[in-house]
Amino acid sequence: MATGTRTKKSLPLDGGGQGGGERLRPNGEPRKFTPPQPHPIKGRGEEAAIRDVLESVPDPEIPVVSVVDLGIVRDVRPDRVTITPTYTGCPATQVIERDIHAALDAAGFRDVAIETMLSPPWTTDWITESGKAKLHAYGIAPPSRAATATCPQCGSADTEELSRFGSTPCKAQWRCRSCLEPFDRFKCH
Ligand SMILES: [Zn+2]
Repeated sequence: MATGTRTKKSLPLDGGGQGGGERLRPNGEPRKFTPPQPHPIKGRGEEAAIRDVLESVPDPEIPVVSVVDLGIVRDVRPDRVTITPTYTGCPATQVIERDIHAALDAAGFRDVAIETMLSPPWTTDWITESGKAKLHAYGIAPPSRAATATCPQCGSADTEELSRFGSTPCKAQWRCRSCLEPFDRFKCH
């Protein structure tokens, strides 16, 4: 006989409390088997889930914008996230990488590597429209090729640059001649 060579294991139901007892509910029924789920979804859905996580990672210097808003996230794969740092030597770069790792870990994406791509270099053109709107709402003039900045406080275009160096190397200090409020302007880069 070719059949019956395999020994049939006794079901936990028969086994009572021995060995497999932890798999039994108090009433003796076997627990529903739940396969391990290291990642929410595989494939495209997983990339979208990772992107969602990244959208929750704030820029360390300007917490109102996420790393996605800033445009530093270049590519998202199920196993790898590619980022391009903003300003070379910006101390925030290492913090950003650490924060992304922490957020991905917390979301269950422990095996996702972070790859840094230096070329082509990041430019302020990569800041998303939503990112620019958030900067403006936060009181920072978003980067623009225009010679004048629009005051984030009152909207006046009657503004002047006070210093190329603002609160961080990435920003210049400006002042509005209408409402006299100083504000930071994201440097074009
Ligand atoms: Zn103003």
